[in-house]
Amino acid sequence: MRQTLQAVRGMNDILPDEAEIWENFEDIVRDWLRGYGYRPIRVPILEPTPLFRRAIGEVTDIVEKEMYSFEDALNGENLTLRPEGTAGCARAAIQHKLVNAGGPQRLCYQGPMFRHERPQKGRYRQFHQIGVEALGFAGPDIDAELIIMGSRLWERLGLADVRLELNTLGSAEERAGHRAALIAYLEERRDELDEDGQRRLHANPLRILDTKNPAMQDIVEAAPKLIDHLGDESRAHFEAVREMLRDAGIACRINHRLVRGLDYYNRTVFEWVTDRLGAQGTVCAGGRYDSLMEQLGGKATPAAGFAMGVERLLDLWREGGEAEYAIARPVPNVYVVHQGDAARRLAFRAAEALRDVGLDVLLHCGGGTFKSQMKKADASGAQIALVIGDDEAAALEIGIKPLRSGDAQWRVPFAELAEAALDALHGGGEDHEQPHKQQE
Ligand code: ATP
Ligand code: MG
Repeated sequence: MRQTLQAVRGMNDILPDEAEIWENFEDIVRDWLRGYGYRPIRVPILEPTPLFRRAIGEVTDIVEKEMYSFEDALNGENLTLRPEGTAGCARAAIQHKLVNAGGPQRLCYQGPMFRHERPQKGRYRQFHQIGVEALGFAGPDIDAELIIMGSRLWERLGLADVRLELNTLGSAEERAGHRAALIAYLEERRDELDEDGQRRLHANPLRILDTKNPAMQDIVEAAPKLIDHLGDESRAHFEAVREMLRDAGIACRINHRLVRGLDYYNRTVFEWVTDRLGAQGTVCAGGRYDSLMEQLGGKATPAAGFAMGVERLLDLWREGGEAEYAIARPVPNVYVVHQGDAARRLAFRAAEALRDVGLDVLLHCGGGTFKSQMKKADASGAQIALVIGDDEAAALEIGIKPLRSGDAQWRVPFAELAEAALDALHGGGEDHEQPHKQQE
């Protein structure tokens, strides 16, 4: 026997029962994004490796140890499966001069991302993000809007216990001042640093603040704070964001240790976190990245954005969300049973005639007796069955059998099928605006 093949570790199949819930979620999200003027962009899943090295930064978890990078065997190009969406969006915006030609852009994307991490609940090697990028906006207003947007989505999904953590990373110069103080502080405690900490001490000391190592918590808690190194402009920007959040009634915790794992951020950074998902509690994260576009060879373009983890949000939705999470799977309105060659031909035409008026139709395929076909019709959840045998085919008529009431089967001429089916589904006189039924 051949060995059965399995999906790559950490990469999930999303089966139909679950995938339908994903689609419900995506419908809600699409609607919400449109409400804020975000337009979709679709960029490749594979990008040149240097894009991520330059955008995310060399001394980061992602670039150091999480990227799926390989050499294209056919032409030797260095390629990487995207670990996040911002770099690709920025590259596309530069390449197509979106901001130069069209002014500020509100863009959104969704799709799979790839990181070689240790798989566990809420952490996968292929996972999905929905993200937005606001390109060409310098002021604190867009930062606040991004955060308000998030909070409105949690509300819309009925998610409880998602709270906001906020910080500012200042400007590159301010970070340099803080960095010097931080290095001096950490050097005095070099022996107490873990391996990552020692390695990053000079390369990327800010990231040490982000450590999850419990043994290092006291050290990082007492470390010099970036906020004490901010200049007036950064301070005012941060204050303005906070005021707009207060106006919107959004509470937040200022977390000085929130530095984000990617190098491109500056000024406002934020995470939406929950305690309900264990260790993988960040469901959405983002901030401002004013230097990224320039760093990638484009014109200097202020920008901000965020990305949410779809798997984690769905876990949360499943657990504490509204009944909407459990929206029943869509069922067909009509199931078509048929027997004989002429009947089959008529059945195909009948099914299309009903689809033309907006009904969802399951045409029985695979033959079998009328009795076994009717069992399938019943199990499908459809409201009515069309029944077509030799007699009906000869008379060019269709049998209509209500499946959920005791009503008897009757026959209509093919030409009157659509109207009769709609009547049977909705009762005469009602409007036929929404033929799609949901199963309990
Ligand atoms: P974490 O600290 O959990 O590793 P991160 O800072 O690496 O997260 P980001 O790069 O900010 O994550 O990505 C944004 C969001 O994408 C995260 O908040 C999370 O919801 C989700 N995410 C990131 N990595 C994964 C993963 N490996 N599996 C599932 N979701 C993920
Ligand atoms: Mg990570």
